[in-house]
Amino acid sequence: MHFLGTGAGKPTNNRNVTSIALNLLPERGTCWLFDCGEGTQQQLLKTSLKISKFDKLFVTHLHGDHIFGIPGLLTSRSYGGSSRPFTVYGPPGIREFVEIGLRISQSHIDYELDIVEYSEGTVFCDDSFTVTAGKLEHRIDSYGFRITEHDRTGSLDVEALKRIGIRPGPVLGMLKRGETVTLEDGRVIHGTDYVAPSIRGRKVAVLGDTRYTRQSLELARGADLLVHEATFGSEHADLAESYYHSTAEQAARIAAEAGARRLVLTHISSRYDDAGTGPLLEEAQAIFADTHAAVDFARYEIASGK
Ligand SMILES: [Zn+2]
Ligand SMILES: [Zn+2]
Repeated sequence: MHFLGTGAGKPTNNRNVTSIALNLLPERGTCWLFDCGEGTQQQLLKTSLKISKFDKLFVTHLHGDHIFGIPGLLTSRSYGGSSRPFTVYGPPGIREFVEIGLRISQSHIDYELDIVEYSEGTVFCDDSFTVTAGKLEHRIDSYGFRITEHDRTGSLDVEALKRIGIRPGPVLGMLKRGETVTLEDGRVIHGTDYVAPSIRGRKVAVLGDTRYTRQSLELARGADLLVHEATFGSEHADLAESYYHSTAEQAARIAAEAGARRLVLTHISSRYDDAGTGPLLEEAQAIFADTHAAVDFARYEIASGK
């Protein structure tokens, strides 16, 4: 996970507005983007990530600091000669925003662009991942995403099978599925003896802007990594409440109550630019030790699930 922008509301010298790149399966050669604040494409240019590799954008909500970078990014992706289709998933209204932006500017997109307006529930599913959305509590409709990697069956120990004289063929497929096979010579082989334990898929939660809400718990339950906004510190809990944002301490409470493994705070108010995020981290770590405060270009590995 690669943080491209970690500030709240407007860019500062230190932080661009929100965007996160997620690359859970590098071997696939595709990346996903979560939110696309203004200037996201410039941030991307400062990383090794290529705009052409992105094929999905998930938008948490329609506030400008999360979407003003979309038309520019989509247009530049076309200049880059990418022919790979691209899908934008966003709450109702995202289609109008993107289509008007492209139409009024007479921008030409020479790849297939899909815009999907989602509500709660499953947003995307393929043979490796399911992405679900849950509504949070913000001034406008704002959602959190839970990205669940499907569990994978363990690999078959082909070498060990070779040693006992089993050659590639349909038998291997049956053994990989854990079936018991009787060979022509009468030997009985149990697939379960040769298949490594299955690998638990990773779970990642990326939440949009929100007040402290128990709705977040469902999305964050057991997550290997939880990304939660922390616009304010506890000294401004009243502002957080009235502007529908969270404090670092509230984000930590969600992580702890949800049994997440790691918490990364983002969407940090510019008021902490000079003072630093030390106090935010301190109040969060008092509740949830494995808390980090993201900075632009910070990267976090998401360990294979255990
Ligand atoms: Zn925001
Ligand atoms: Zn917002």
